[in-house]
Amino acid sequence: MIKENIEIIRQKIEKSVKISGRKLDEVRLMGVTKYHSLDEICEAAPFLDFIGENKVQEAEKKKGNSSAPRNIPWHMIGHMQRNKIKKAVEIFDLIETIDNIEAADTLQNVLAKKEASPFPIFIEVNVTGEESKNGIPSVQAENLLCHILKNCSLVIPTGLMTMAREVADEHELHKTFATARMLRDTLEKKTGARLPELSMGMSGDFEIAIEEGSTIVRVGTSIFGIR
Ligand SMILES: *Cc1c(COP(=O)(O)O)cnc(C)c1O
Repeated sequence: MIKENIEIIRQKIEKSVKISGRKLDEVRLMGVTKYHSLDEICEAAPFLDFIGENKVQEAEKKKGNSSAPRNIPWHMIGHMQRNKIKKAVEIFDLIETIDNIEAADTLQNVLAKKEASPFPIFIEVNVTGEESKNGIPSVQAENLLCHILKNCSLVIPTGLMTMAREVADEHELHKTFATARMLRDTLEKKTGARLPELSMGMSGDFEIAIEEGSTIVRVGTSIFGIR
């Protein structure tokens, strides 16, 4: 089932890529595996480009197992609590959810203390302005990026991550994802940083996200079923 589900999603990705005149290798598929078992992850991994987990502890449990797939990157996509950052850099290849200066500074300190290599992150942006949502408000993203570029030499921003509103029509989804893309373009122009990655689109809206420039779609339910 999992393999077939991924095949269907790959076909949909291909279609959206074509519609938008993009190239297929510009869009990669993350399997979002929160609450799903290691067996399911192992079954899906050969057909995925990334694994995404929302909780440090859950990911640690799964990835600590010797059978866990290690040949594709694991991304942290859940809210990044500051006291879990130290653990997170040991488990994940990239944190997609840095959304405040304190978290960036903590990450910098953790890495400096370990004499670790630079660590890639995405800035999570709350484009829709919902109060319930994580992510930095769009208007503050430049400030956070500049802070990181200036003060956090080991923290390497390589993209933006965002989520659309859960209940939104197609028009609004297009607008949300386009706003994230344009924010990325503006930030690159203003700061000179390179932010090639746009992590956006989930089971319900990944096709629209691709049309608006997504480079990583994060799909859970359509691969693994209801959590
Ligand atoms: C759970 C989750 C997803 C996947 O959502 P689905 O609707 O199950 O595809 C994607 N991104 C984040 C940040 C999530 O928490």
